[in-house]
Amino acid sequence: MTHLTLDDCRAMDARDPLAPLREQFELPPGVVYLDGNSLGAMPKAALARAQEVITQEWGTGLIRSWNTAGWFELPRRLGNKLGRLIGARDDEVVVTDTTSINLFKLLAAALRQQQRVAPERRVIVSERNNFPTDLYMTQGLIELLHSLGGAHYELRLIDGPQDIDAALTDDVALLLLTHVNYQTGYMYDMVDVTARAHARGAVTIWDLCHSAGAVPVDLNGADADYAVGCTYKYLNGGPGSPAFLWVNARHQETFTQPLSGWWGHARPFAMEPQYAPHAGIQRYLCGTQPITSLAMVESGLDTFAATDMQQLRAKSLALTSLFMDLVAQECAGFPLTLNTPVDTRCRGSQVSYEHPQGFAVVQALIERGVIPDYREPRIMRFGFTPLYIGFEDVWSAVAVLKDILQSKSWDQPQFHQRGAVT
Ligand SMILES: *Cc1c(COP(=O)(O)O)cnc(C)c1O
Repeated sequence: MTHLTLDDCRAMDARDPLAPLREQFELPPGVVYLDGNSLGAMPKAALARAQEVITQEWGTGLIRSWNTAGWFELPRRLGNKLGRLIGARDDEVVVTDTTSINLFKLLAAALRQQQRVAPERRVIVSERNNFPTDLYMTQGLIELLHSLGGAHYELRLIDGPQDIDAALTDDVALLLLTHVNYQTGYMYDMVDVTARAHARGAVTIWDLCHSAGAVPVDLNGADADYAVGCTYKYLNGGPGSPAFLWVNARHQETFTQPLSGWWGHARPFAMEPQYAPHAGIQRYLCGTQPITSLAMVESGLDTFAATDMQQLRAKSLALTSLFMDLVAQECAGFPLTLNTPVDTRCRGSQVSYEHPQGFAVVQALIERGVIPDYREPRIMRFGFTPLYIGFEDVWSAVAVLKDILQSKSWDQPQFHQRGAVT
């Protein structure tokens, strides 16, 4: 490997066709923000949009805005906009609720679908180091079904991609995987894994929390069944912005979910006592949506307007590769263990290292204006968002990391103190 310099990084910025997109974001000066995989940066347009929603649509329009400002249509309209980033067609995606809640709907719908054709299939396969809420929601549904005297479902956890084939036995109803792992940044081959699951009679739920807006996704191309994801990470929708869910068109008409609120009703304003699901994707909704938060999702999605996922992917891989190379060059000799695939075919848009004092090192980085995050156990996570991160940012981040490791400045009491959110 040739020795990399700051000038090399600046030259990469000068050649980067996506560099101007950073102008769309409000980023504090002096900060290198490497946590867009946890909370995306704020699009400048979000402020004006928030003002419009609050003062005009809410303040002046009042209740009329449900019709006149398109509030009622928002989950579906945003779903269509988002769908283009994940290989969905129109009227296959809604933006609504949280990832956890949407997972519950999909898990229940997928189990019912399997119950009709293969009632002996009672196992849900997922990964031990999947994001915990995915496992918790599955456990909650299993517990609910069991406690009410219903079927006994089982959650079977695998240790990694190498275990999938062995786990897909003929009692498996459902394979629930996160496309890009939140700890390691490992990315599954969605086409291949979906085909293998189908060949074994299982249906798939893909969690796209670390994929949507981060890597190219083609849900229809993969012939996937169901998918969920959040909008506040790579999609820049704002803190706690509503999530999305996608259902393959072939499952739409049979989709039945237990959160059968009035927004999913065929005629919500007929106020009928009996639930009847909407004929289309509106049936995935539950109740009244958080409109101000939902409106911000659009500002986030609009930051993708001037590019496409292929261009973003090329830059994302260049950024993560540069980061790995620079850490190898500058920080050799420190106890850093790379957790992320070097093979670009199975790498998302983040790089993770384990360090025995990972938590304290991350706090020391944050104090110096380099913001990654920390995940148990010992994992330092660096997210690279090609929309607003440049190559010189990568250089600066590694320079600060090296300085902190060399000086051991992380070993101060304030860097060992934990807040409620890490
Ligand atoms: C961030 C994330 C979630 C978050 O779920 P919420 O319901 O929005 O809190 C779920 N799953 C994965 C894989 C995630 O990365």
